[in-house]
Amino acid sequence: MNRPILDTGIKVVKNVGSFNFGAGALDNLLQHVDTRRARATTANEDGRVVYLVDEFFFDRPETLDRLGSTSQDRIDFVPTTEEPKTDAIDERVADLIAAGFSAPATLVGVGGGITLDTTKAVANLLTNGGKAEDYQGWDLVRVPGRHKIGVPTISGTGSEATRTCIMTNIRSGLKLGMNSDHTVFDHLILDPELTATVPRDQYFYTGMDAYLHCVEAMAGSYRNAVGDAYARETLNLCRQLFLADDMMSPESRERLMVASYLGGCAIGTSYVGLVHPFSAGLSVVLGVHHCIANCMAMRAMTEFYPAACTEFEAMAERQQVTVPRGVCRDLSDAQYRALYDATVIHEKPLTNALGSGYREVLTLDRVVELFQAM
Ligand code: ZN
Repeated sequence: MNRPILDTGIKVVKNVGSFNFGAGALDNLLQHVDTRRARATTANEDGRVVYLVDEFFFDRPETLDRLGSTSQDRIDFVPTTEEPKTDAIDERVADLIAAGFSAPATLVGVGGGITLDTTKAVANLLTNGGKAEDYQGWDLVRVPGRHKIGVPTISGTGSEATRTCIMTNIRSGLKLGMNSDHTVFDHLILDPELTATVPRDQYFYTGMDAYLHCVEAMAGSYRNAVGDAYARETLNLCRQLFLADDMMSPESRERLMVASYLGGCAIGTSYVGLVHPFSAGLSVVLGVHHCIANCMAMRAMTEFYPAACTEFEAMAERQQVTVPRGVCRDLSDAQYRALYDATVIHEKPLTNALGSGYREVLTLDRVVELFQAM
């Protein structure tokens, strides 16, 4: 009997080990880092800590000074102009090993999805060896990665909760993470004060990732009671905050931080649908960032998600955020072909959304039409 395509082994749900939550939670980081340092010698680790910090914080000592770093530690700033590439991850790991940081007491990732995913990938590679591309797929990571703590500074991607870390392999065109229980963070600091300085547009696009994960999951064929419960509450919180007067009030920022985490848990037990594969096409071929690409893709999804599309437009309007239009008008035939290839390659979510015959619905012409409608 053929193994069904959606049967990828979500049999045991792995969640984040522990977390601190609430305004000011960042002050708890020092204690967790110190605990890790104290046990380092017995655990064959070297007592130093690797911080991977979103470059946004490069000149923000008010945040950097609270991370608990010493002069012995390593702080690397993670550029966020491009989403993680397998080659860049490999270089980062090689640099750390060359600098003597192959067995840090913990890695602390401070930032958005790019930084958190980078931290997860690096932690896995420091113990598993090999190259990042070796682990793109399901359950290929052999042994637990280095201990890692996540400190999200923008909400929506759910990276803080999930068992994956999305990376693009430029040579193969594959945008896929290391889906593994070993990828899950050991500890999180969820401090909604950290999202107060995010630019409004970016806050909206990224927050919508949580909303869309759950819209797609709830419309799919692969459903389960736990995933549904996480997804329903995520959507509930998103409606409360994105249809409120100010999506960035302290209450709204707290709600979105919870929605992001729960949305990550939801997607960890289910699959996305159509928006994410089309979004991945935009990212791989045109270099558009994940969250804004989702919003662009959602514009063309009316026939698949009619109610959610209407609600999405209402949220954008309420928050006075503009989603750019026309990103795929007037491209070359080769570019449209590349967009098609980079979209239909995502067979799990597309099967979840449309069934195993999804390619009959998503023909080359149809896919090109949808991209042109964005
Ligand atoms: Zn997403």
